[in-house]
Amino acid sequence: MYACGLTVYARGHIGNFRTFVALDLLRRTLRHVAGFDVRQIVNFTDVDDKTINASRAAGESLRAYTDRYITAFREDAAALGIEPVEAYPRATDEENLRAMVEMVAALEARGHAYRSDGSVYFRIATDPDYGRLARLDHEGIMPGARIDSDQYAKHDARDFVLWKASAPGEPAWDFGVGPGRPGWHIECSAMALRLLGEPPIDIHAGGVDLIFPHHENEIAQSEGATGAPFARFWVHVEHLLLDKGDKMSKSEGNILTVSDVLARGRRASALRYVLLSTHYRKQLRFTWDSLAQAEEALTRIMDCLARLDGVTAAGSNPAMQARAAAAREAFAAMMRSDLNTPGALGVVFELVRDVHAALDAGEVAAGDAAVLRGAFDHCDRVLGVIALRRAEEEAPPIPVDEIERLIAERRAARGRRDFATADRIRDDLQGRGIALEDSAAGTRWKRV
Ligand code: AMP
Ligand code: ZN
Repeated sequence: MYACGLTVYARGHIGNFRTFVALDLLRRTLRHVAGFDVRQIVNFTDVDDKTINASRAAGESLRAYTDRYITAFREDAAALGIEPVEAYPRATDEENLRAMVEMVAALEARGHAYRSDGSVYFRIATDPDYGRLARLDHEGIMPGARIDSDQYAKHDARDFVLWKASAPGEPAWDFGVGPGRPGWHIECSAMALRLLGEPPIDIHAGGVDLIFPHHENEIAQSEGATGAPFARFWVHVEHLLLDKGDKMSKSEGNILTVSDVLARGRRASALRYVLLSTHYRKQLRFTWDSLAQAEEALTRIMDCLARLDGVTAAGSNPAMQARAAAAREAFAAMMRSDLNTPGALGVVFELVRDVHAALDAGEVAAGDAAVLRGAFDHCDRVLGVIALRRAEEEAPPIPVDEIERLIAERRAARGRRDFATADRIRDDLQGRGIALEDSAAGTRWKRV
């Protein structure tokens, strides 16, 4: 599976992460429900007009500038419990640039490309199937679609650039088709086929904004260069919108990042819950209220698990064992049905309700409790919210470096006999869930 990743000129927003969480659900369903081995690629677009302009404005090299947002992506993805994928290629890695140049040369050799002003273009008139994915008529352009931000000297307005002659001062590479840089579309075609092998690849995925022209152009290039179909399945995730109904987009400046949400004291597990609770083919309107509801929903699941942990009666009850098995099957059926996450969450909450009722009636023994917990864990191998919540609860509420820095500050304050400051630091930490214990050996901290 190849998924179009982030254009790393800014920190990814929660709209981008809606797509990445949805694809994580797909990955986990393929692995844990369908039993496939998954090899998944998520790329970083680290060269285009936006990354070049932003790095110049920051006075940094393209590599150093984009590195920062790649690191931020990894942090945010980890916070949201997104499973790491098998490879994260960058467009500007040399082996990828060479693969792009090879594809451009193959397109030239097969008569699909032409040169103009030092750039190489794909000639759409040579591809009778062009527009099939986006269901365009041959002349048509989809309204509201994302069009290349780059402007070039093209023969036909629909033609798109494969390899772009660089302007003075822009980064340029020369691996055989002349000095320049890759067009956005060729990056993905070449990286997908280099890392996943012979076409067709199984699944190609991304947000709905990419259907046209990006994915349409990827198909035209890949099939033009290889003569084989490019991808068996296309998966497109609908957009996350802001409260007012505006599309969240970096170029519009109306964005919210994962770290913005965490800085407001919300938990990543709640954000993951919100992002997966709407079916991936429906638009998702983000509100702060939806995060509060997610918190409540997660608390209900965690409370139920805590009650199960407290069961001590020996033995087991066949009805409870059957109930757990039915939940596992119903959950799997929902996920198999085009990743029906709302339905899958419905299965989990029916189980929560039935478990509470059975516990109230004294029908759950210790053997059943283990099997029921196993059913929740089975669902969570795909949902990934319970594991995230547990990890959050185990982690100190404040980063360890910060605790240690405050302990050092307090020690310094005491050293200069500023007991008011020392006490304030201790009280502050206490208020944030960390208790300090002083002894002859020094100060230790623990969770309250
Ligand atoms: P970009 O950094 O714009 O290239 O986007 C990275 C990924 O996020 C692509 O798969 C996009 O289709 C997807 N994406 C961009 N904006 C949104 C949004 N508002 N909601 C969901 N997915 C999005
Ligand atoms: Zn792409």
